[in-house]
Amino acid sequence: MLFDTHAHLNDTQYNEDLEEVIGRAQTEGVSQMVIVGFDRPTIERAMELVERYDFMYACVGWHPVDAIDMTDEDLSWIEELASHPKVVALGEMGLDYHWDKSPKDIQKEVFRRQIRLAKKVNLPIVIHNREATADIVEILKEEEAEEVGGIMHCFSGSPEVAKECVKMNFYISLGGPVTFKNAKKPKEVAAEIPLDKLLIETDCPYLAPHPYRGKRNEPGYVKLVAEQIAEIKGLTFEEVAQATTQNAKKLFAINC
Ligand SMILES: [Zn+2]
Repeated sequence: MLFDTHAHLNDTQYNEDLEEVIGRAQTEGVSQMVIVGFDRPTIERAMELVERYDFMYACVGWHPVDAIDMTDEDLSWIEELASHPKVVALGEMGLDYHWDKSPKDIQKEVFRRQIRLAKKVNLPIVIHNREATADIVEILKEEEAEEVGGIMHCFSGSPEVAKECVKMNFYISLGGPVTFKNAKKPKEVAAEIPLDKLLIETDCPYLAPHPYRGKRNEPGYVKLVAEQIAEIKGLTFEEVAQATTQNAKKLFAINC
């Protein structure tokens, strides 16, 4: 049984064929998934989905690219949602220096406010990092995010940074890129980080694994990520599937 820890089935790209996508995920052995909402429309849709499907859980937060749009009301709303029994984490939050819609200082402030909220409501956090590793690590340390821990989502950094994050109580989540032939760092991370600190995800509809690279991704493809990690670590697919599912349930405090 597989756990896709980061899926955006709340994306409008699934409006036409959501039931088929879910059916294929179940055929591939995906038993649970976390739907990530990162602004008003995607959080609303994530909550609709988790109310409808018992195998879906929600992660709610504010994306760094849109940090400039986040209001006090948005943060209060996220705080209200945090008490919903199917909201298992806050995020995705973090820093994204690739796009310049939101200035860095605003991104940092919105990131810090969400970490503080997560500590207040006692939920783990899901980190989005693009070209901002040093600042992310610094803020996680300064805000003592270790207290709640969480996930470095779709981790693309070096094994050294991964180890530093593990020390801060974070899991390292690998997605489609670990299957790409030229993806040196994710393969090194898969090799060096112990299985009890690894998670798997799709980040669908983005980052589809080989051989679907460039196409729309979906939760069923998380199997390819688990297979790749198994190959790199010299383990069976079942061992990787079981361990990563257990890790996810422990982090999200899911007992079923
Ligand atoms: Zn995402």
